[in-house]
Amino acid sequence: MSEIEIRNFTKTEDEWRQQLSPEQYDVLRKAGTEAPFTGEYWDMKSNGDYRCRGCGAVLFKSGTKFDSGTGWPSFTEPAVAEAIELRPDNSLFMRRTEVVCRNCGGHLGHVFDDGPGPTGQRYCINSCSLEFEPEDG
Ligand code: FE
Repeated sequence: MSEIEIRNFTKTEDEWRQQLSPEQYDVLRKAGTEAPFTGEYWDMKSNGDYRCRGCGAVLFKSGTKFDSGTGWPSFTEPAVAEAIELRPDNSLFMRRTEVVCRNCGGHLGHVFDDGPGPTGQRYCINSCSLEFEPEDG
């Protein structure tokens, strides 16, 4: 069985507001950005999976997390490529690539080409888009 649980659900904005905190709603549903060094996970070093706060799909794994110095959780790659979707984002006078949860469409962050891994990618993800699941329960 795939690690991604494809649910193909649609929720109304009211349902999202009920499920998410105001900050989570702003990031996941309105493509907001949390302030750096304020999120739950930027300095998290435990082993485990990072799931989508919107739908629970496994998006990133601790083994690919690295300290980028940016104040946001940073990963070299997604847990599986199919978990995410990339979209061009030319807002705020910048040319960036938005990272979205493929399952629920939630905004996660952006990906940049200055990462340390073999692919050179840095997935810069908001803590409040994620829910950490420790490896040993
Ligand atoms: Fe999701």
